[in-house]
Amino acid sequence: MNKAMKIIVVAALVLAVAAIVRLKQQSKETDAGANAPIRATVATPAGVPRLVDLGSVTCIPCKMMAPILEELKKEYAGRLSVEFYDVVQKPAVAKQYNMKLMPTQIFFDASGKELFRHEGFFAKDEILAKWKELGVDLSGAKAAAPAFEQLTAAKPDERPKENVCYMCDGDINPKTLVTVQTDKGPVRLCSLHCYFILDSCLTEDKTGFEKKVTVTDWAAGQPVPLSEAVYLYGEDETTGRPWIRAFAGRDTALAERTAKGGNVLALAALQEKEFSHRCGFCERACYPQDAAEVVVEGGVHTWGCCSHCALGVAARTGKNIEVREKDRLTKQAIVVKTLDGKVAALEPATTVAWFGQRKKPDGTWASAGCFHQGFFTNADNLKKWVEQNPYETGRLISISQALADKMKLSPDQIQKACKIGECAPK
Ligand SMILES: [Zn+2]
Ligand SMILES: [Zn+2]
Repeated sequence: MNKAMKIIVVAALVLAVAAIVRLKQQSKETDAGANAPIRATVATPAGVPRLVDLGSVTCIPCKMMAPILEELKKEYAGRLSVEFYDVVQKPAVAKQYNMKLMPTQIFFDASGKELFRHEGFFAKDEILAKWKELGVDLSGAKAAAPAFEQLTAAKPDERPKENVCYMCDGDINPKTLVTVQTDKGPVRLCSLHCYFILDSCLTEDKTGFEKKVTVTDWAAGQPVPLSEAVYLYGEDETTGRPWIRAFAGRDTALAERTAKGGNVLALAALQEKEFSHRCGFCERACYPQDAAEVVVEGGVHTWGCCSHCALGVAARTGKNIEVREKDRLTKQAIVVKTLDGKVAALEPATTVAWFGQRKKPDGTWASAGCFHQGFFTNADNLKKWVEQNPYETGRLISISQALADKMKLSPDQIQKACKIGECAPK
């Protein structure tokens, strides 16, 4: 290398070092500057849209956002960058993003351009819907959950009508048959519990109603007027779920008590027990063993006679609720938390709802009633349950949809919800 070349190489090196020092200084200034572009301080994968959530670890809606952000991070890994900033600890970040309210979610496209911002709690479904609306495709390889519906029963219900319970559509055991005389003919029920459910969801004047009701004497199999029967009331040893047997006479009831256990009750005492638990949405009598538990904000506990009714408690009370339900197939625990009428947390996240529906004579669809609804921890469980229950018709909907359906009801509609003649087409 000649002298001239050496000078050029040294000069180039000096210039390069100077440039690096300058760049470093610049980036230091940038980090400290209040109005610096956020890209300078945040490392993000190139070429993917970003969702930035500005909040804190203490504010309630912010805390509700945390599991949603975690889920989005996992489910859309590599396709969406999900970033959370605690603006209480880092107030400079709030300034950089010009945040006004906590929490704020900002949507950036892959080039870093802000597309949209939202203030307050933002449900997962809504976030995903917003991305879609903004024309950003996050689906990648992940296909949308396949819709599932069964609008024609897999098997026609050919059971003789007199053997099917008017209330629950279950088979009628002749030993526990309850009959109600109506203008349209006798209504047959599988059990006293179904009778009390019917009684609790009638809107008509109930004066003298009991006189129209006959129960079946467990011992002789003969009809007995409701008010004249004696009842043996007990609880299942394992589940605690009540069972009731009716008797024409006290002697046979006492004899049965010796063999089976339980307590002998008159109608008034039995009624009190049956009405001691009511659905917090539709007011039907229910057994806790069959119902979903609902904890209303402020600590009040109530029940949902079915999973959809449980969500309806949010609509009826106008409060945030926590629903503790069981998968209808596997009995696995499901927890839904709501915030401002939206689903804020869902455990497990894959939980879906079955919306049991039936075609009315006029061809439109209506709810098939509380006995035909349910939550499932995943779509496969739902499909298995539908397979096992070939008379069921309806469709798979998201928990958010199930809640939204309830939230849009007017107070008048809530009053009529699940009442006889208002809900299930018969
Ligand atoms: Zn029934
Ligand atoms: Zn209900």
